[in-house]
Amino acid sequence: MKIDRRSFLGLGLGAAAGIAVSPVGVKLTDDSSIWTQNWPWTPVPEDGEITYENSVCSLCPGSCGISVRKIKGRPVKIEGDENCPITGGGACLHGIAGLQYLYDPARVKTPLRKNGKRFEPISWEEAISTVAGKLGEIRENGSDTLGLITGGAQGSMTGMFRRFLDAFGSSNAFAMPSLDANLELTAQTLHGAGKTLGFDLENSDFVLSFGAGLLEGWGSPVACYKANSSRKERHGKLYQIEPRLSNTAANADKWIPCKPGTEADLALGICAVLLSKNLFAPGVYPGGLNRFTANVTKQYSPENVEAITGVKAADIEKLAVEFANAKNAVAIPGRGRGDQGQSLREFAAVQTLNALTGRLNKKGGVFIFDKESYLSFPEAAMDEIAEAGAGKDKQAASLDELVTKINASDAPLLNALFVYNANPCYALRDPKRVKDAFKKVPFVVSFSSYLDETAMEADVILPASTFLERMEDVPSGGGLAKQVVGLARPMVNPVFDTKNPGDALIALAQAMGGTIAESFEWETYEEALEAIAESVWETLSEEGYAVVAEGNPEGIPTTNFAYMADMPDAVQAQGDGKLILMPIDNMRLTGASSPFAVKTVSDKVIAGKDVVVEINPATAKGLKDGGDAVITTPVGKAKVKVFLNEGMMPGVIGMAKGLGHTYDNPYVAGKGVNVNDLIAPVIEPGSGLDAAFGITASISKA
Ligand code: SF4
Repeated sequence: MKIDRRSFLGLGLGAAAGIAVSPVGVKLTDDSSIWTQNWPWTPVPEDGEITYENSVCSLCPGSCGISVRKIKGRPVKIEGDENCPITGGGACLHGIAGLQYLYDPARVKTPLRKNGKRFEPISWEEAISTVAGKLGEIRENGSDTLGLITGGAQGSMTGMFRRFLDAFGSSNAFAMPSLDANLELTAQTLHGAGKTLGFDLENSDFVLSFGAGLLEGWGSPVACYKANSSRKERHGKLYQIEPRLSNTAANADKWIPCKPGTEADLALGICAVLLSKNLFAPGVYPGGLNRFTANVTKQYSPENVEAITGVKAADIEKLAVEFANAKNAVAIPGRGRGDQGQSLREFAAVQTLNALTGRLNKKGGVFIFDKESYLSFPEAAMDEIAEAGAGKDKQAASLDELVTKINASDAPLLNALFVYNANPCYALRDPKRVKDAFKKVPFVVSFSSYLDETAMEADVILPASTFLERMEDVPSGGGLAKQVVGLARPMVNPVFDTKNPGDALIALAQAMGGTIAESFEWETYEEALEAIAESVWETLSEEGYAVVAEGNPEGIPTTNFAYMADMPDAVQAQGDGKLILMPIDNMRLTGASSPFAVKTVSDKVIAGKDVVVEINPATAKGLKDGGDAVITTPVGKAKVKVFLNEGMMPGVIGMAKGLGHTYDNPYVAGKGVNVNDLIAPVIEPGSGLDAAFGITASISKA
């Protein structure tokens, strides 16, 4: 595919990637510091003593250590902490702009209760007694009708929420899609229960990435950026397989365009070449190898895979040989950030490639870890109701399935729902159906810091203090080769009438009494954290970080491995349109969009209030660069601006994720379209993952 200079520059490649995700330079740090102060609602600091304190950013799974500069006790600037074992001193623009989250106009400033269509402020006492009273009634009639949605499944805060559900008598805990969950599911499927994967990108000489947006926020973004720089210094290679010339692809040694959603087929095609040419590692895991070999060599010949993926058969063969012969090599899965529109089929196929070529538990390869082990909760006290509830099956295998079941049911499946650190009414595919499901739950309690799309659907909001106002353990996520937990400490007293959600839960449990209160006998969340993280507490509290597991490259690869002989069928994009609409991850637009970050987005992503879509000139018949168009999918329709871009495969339309918020924040709301509004989930049989990376679409002149 030919890329001209104009298209390349239009994508804002190269330097822009460095600015969005980098060990931030002094100039940019100062600029950001000025920006973060330069909003009308941010108080101007008085002169006074200058101090520095360390903490950890928890705005994404990166878990970057930060150093907070304070004047007279008030935080005025954030930069990376060079002692951080993950980043060595880097932070991204969201982290350094973290002060904005303290004063964001969309913050929930006090507990709120819905009265008709509006929220009214109430005291914490009233809020806790309202929620405890309602939950008490619900528990009498079916404790398993309390549900929970959290942003991830890691750390003590999620543990506290899950403990509340246990003591209440419900197993209905669900988490938003995440790279960590996908890696755990892959490890559990191929290596056994209680495992997860960590990729040794720091030491790899050849990274074969099946769409992982290493410079777009995949995994631990700053750690990935650092590993990218170190690989270049070592003259290692990165080959990027994806439909679009992303920042990662532009920084790679080779970009291999591949039709959206066919990454697993390409990985299996490479496996087939390795097996047919006897290029697999000696002593490779024998259990199930014969059946796997028979299946892939029959179905995934290079010619078949060329027809599916668009990658030439000769190139597939060359790629297989090059990967097999590389010294410290690793294959990594996860399109974009790896958290949405992912399939077990793809993750398992890519990990099988690592297993076949002997890259498990090897330097520069992939480590198989036991899941986080630094937390140890005492047994929850259970009364008869809790015992009975705990014995019942979960209402659904995944959050998406839960939404579908709630919408299909006449009677409420859940009578109450807690939401913590998650915005499913924005971030799941086809969020209208999620909002419809929320409307069918009689009592929703949000623990959000912001009046976001999901908090708007709540009956009561118990507002959480932000990461700069509270203590919390922050375990590293994102497939790192070293598992680290950091300690976020309060850098400032809560600016508004908010609480650490752990303290709110303890107050709620105490108000409910009985065995629920007994399960939360701590005075404060800080006391609870010290007790449950006892194994690492001394190191954590003194040094700010504790390494809980580290891949040992000298270790013997004793891990079990089971081939998935019967891979799930490939999930097809919904609809019968001729084109595929594909979401694009952008480091500047994460779930936690800040006014500063949105201001830095290129006009090739959003022009005024219009979202810009990328389309190859060969596909864009009749459309003009910069012109208006309408995209139609089986789920919705949107007016867009067109960016003709040779860096997009023909037949594909790209649209950025992270736009089109509708909540009350003029700096991030009303800008562009939420791409999720145009895509429906397609659930992969067996795994329950929403594997719809895109959807079929048509585009015409507006
Ligand atoms: S990469 Fe994530 S954790 Fe690190 S500074 Fe940025 S938002 Fe914070």
